[in-house]
Amino acid sequence: MALRDRLRRLVQKPGSVDLAPLRALVDEAAARESRVRELPDAELTAAASALREQEDLAELCALGREAARRTLGERPFDVQLVGTLALLSGHVAEMATGEGKTLAGALAAAGYALRGRRVHVLSVNDYLARRDAEWMGPLYAMLGVTTGWVGQSSTPAERREAYRADVTYAPVSEVGFDLLRDRLATRAADLVLPEPSVALIDEADSVLVDEAMVPLVLAGADDSGADGPRYADLVRRLRPGLHYATDDEARNVRLTAAGAREVERVLGLDLYALENLATLTAVNVALHAEALLHRDVDYIVRDGAVKLVSESRGRVALLQRWPDGLQAAVEAKEALDASPSGEILDSITVQELIGRYPVRCGMTGTAMAVAGQLTEFYSLRIAVVPPNRPCVREDEPDRLYATAADKEVAIVEEIAAAHAAGRPVLVGTGDVAESERLARRLARAGLDRVVLNAKNDAEEAAIIAEAGAHGAITVSTQMAGRGTDIRLGGSPSPSAPGTAPAERDGTDHDRVARAGGLLVIGTGRYHSSRLDDQLRGRAGRQGDPGGSVFFTSLQDDLVTRYAPDEESKASTGDDGRISDKGAHWIVGHAQRVAEGVDLELHRNTWRYNHLIGLQRREVLAERDAVLNGDAADRAMAADAPERHAELTAVAGADAVAGAARQIVLYQLDRCWAEHLGFLADLREGIHLRSLGRGLDPLVEFNREAVPAGKRLLADARKASVAAFEALTASEDGVDLDSAGLKRPSATWTYLVHDNPFGSMDERALRGLVAMFRGRRR
Ligand code: ADP
Ligand code: MG
Repeated sequence: MALRDRLRRLVQKPGSVDLAPLRALVDEAAARESRVRELPDAELTAAASALREQEDLAELCALGREAARRTLGERPFDVQLVGTLALLSGHVAEMATGEGKTLAGALAAAGYALRGRRVHVLSVNDYLARRDAEWMGPLYAMLGVTTGWVGQSSTPAERREAYRADVTYAPVSEVGFDLLRDRLATRAADLVLPEPSVALIDEADSVLVDEAMVPLVLAGADDSGADGPRYADLVRRLRPGLHYATDDEARNVRLTAAGAREVERVLGLDLYALENLATLTAVNVALHAEALLHRDVDYIVRDGAVKLVSESRGRVALLQRWPDGLQAAVEAKEALDASPSGEILDSITVQELIGRYPVRCGMTGTAMAVAGQLTEFYSLRIAVVPPNRPCVREDEPDRLYATAADKEVAIVEEIAAAHAAGRPVLVGTGDVAESERLARRLARAGLDRVVLNAKNDAEEAAIIAEAGAHGAITVSTQMAGRGTDIRLGGSPSPSAPGTAPAERDGTDHDRVARAGGLLVIGTGRYHSSRLDDQLRGRAGRQGDPGGSVFFTSLQDDLVTRYAPDEESKASTGDDGRISDKGAHWIVGHAQRVAEGVDLELHRNTWRYNHLIGLQRREVLAERDAVLNGDAADRAMAADAPERHAELTAVAGADAVAGAARQIVLYQLDRCWAEHLGFLADLREGIHLRSLGRGLDPLVEFNREAVPAGKRLLADARKASVAAFEALTASEDGVDLDSAGLKRPSATWTYLVHDNPFGSMDERALRGLVAMFRGRRR
């Protein structure tokens, strides 16, 4: 091994993948470049197809590089090919923003496809899925690989077609929704998704860590929720303080002993008995809706319906709703008709969805900070790919202020100064309220700015693409515009991001670079240092000059929530600025506490979901045997032999087998939906019940959930036999109406919006904050 390589090995980050073998392949690819350049297009395509017979990674890199040069006008850098190879080895490639992960990922996807595997490239939204598929389309075509993309509005036929391609780009959520619908299909011909093979995940940390526990839900219309108004009335008559108490942060509310007695008096039941779990939960949810959710802050009422205001994105959140009970409770509070709240028919978390793929890999700018979690939850390792050009961004230490007001004044001053020098500024705020407050301040200071609260991802992308323009001021929230490149001097072709040739207008770029490049300002630390780094990473792409600085204050939410007991006696300057080391420590400490709590929440939620996932798998195995085989017919022939024989004599074997299949599918789905409902109530209720009794909620949950799961298949079978016995038939066939199979009149899908108070577990876990706080310097 060359000395250089040995040194590199020494400085390699612990726990990350060794890049040396990958680099060797890239060197080999470079040696083949001149030969490959001479190939006519058709021969290049033929050479790529030959890789289907025999894998040759160096050849793949050489052909892929040449194809990209011809079709996209971009010759992949060595480090991009290293990234490609890391992905092809099933790792997460850590590559900074602007390094060209889209292209590196496309070459990897093509490599997998040429190995004969089907690849899903998973994006964080519709816009990026489509953009990347269309952008990389010509490259794939030259390599002889077929592609497709799926978006929210794709029809089932379009989806089926897109999934038939070698490589399919899709938002994670859409793949999840397709899976949920497939799991309830009643005809094999309706299935949309193929067997999972390779998942290549863009913005991997966001998907695999931040969004991992978000449930994707398929719901069907039903007439439940009729009790909502009753509980809304009940809690409206309770007295705050006497009957219920809210905590300091106004994130939690619970009945006092007097309140519980009052509710028990009105309802005439023992609120804490196991059989009244559903009532306890409903009362609790109604109380939350009454006491903690405020009209025109947390939601608005428009067109006779409750519309959520998304805190982090500051707009009405379409397609999102609170967990069902809460949604219905708010509607009851506002005396609105209950929206078709629906019954949850099935759900899956992002983590489970990804877990289905036998091969997983991903890319992001920030992976090492969650290396532990990527290994723990996904068995993934990280390849830290160095930048193409060294990063010269200047990351300043935090500027800490005693009060939020002092901090805001300082932020505006900093923005004004940078702007005066012609330097573009991107401000990352914590939430929309903050971004709007800041925008008003900037306006008062006479500064022109753009606030990112566009209505869709495409618009957001178009705006953020201009954030590098001379003197631009852009105010955004954390996730806004992720995936969009910010070039100094502005986007070369704002109407078609990514499709323009790589040449930017050199003069504008140089002018902005001379002014110092993009300045990124954080208005407070996020609840994870990884998110801070994502924001910083917006500046200094591809060796450009740039800088980043975070302004913090001891009144920031992060500090008051996660380090409320830490006192600082530090003295402040005239401008309220604090230089004391101990005070700075508090902010970092609060962030570490927040990270610890998030991880525990993830683990805890995963423990619950894991059991549910296992139970679901068992039911699905049975379901598959019914949908794709004659399991239902055989079961009915075994359990109801006389009826089976009679019906067969009248209607024929095929008709009877078909009817048996529909009946068993229906009962399996029905029992599963009921089981999910039971588990949801159980999970909420078990915490309330366990609270005073010092019991471990997870143990209590399993104690009830496991036997219920065991009964499920037998119950479905019993109900199927009963329905089968009741069938009537004629020569025309079997009359299924008599079996009472009432499938939901409509189904729809959605993401569960974060419960604004955190789940029951989260609140239980707040105890953890106290624990972490105990860890002193
Ligand atoms: P990332 O996802 O890593 O942040 P993108 O894939 O969005 O980065 O690419 C950022 C920009 O870099 C795009 O405008 C793309 O056209 C450009 N780019 C990528 N690879 C190359 C290359 N090899 N040569 C020139 N430009 C490139
Ligand atoms: Mg990207």
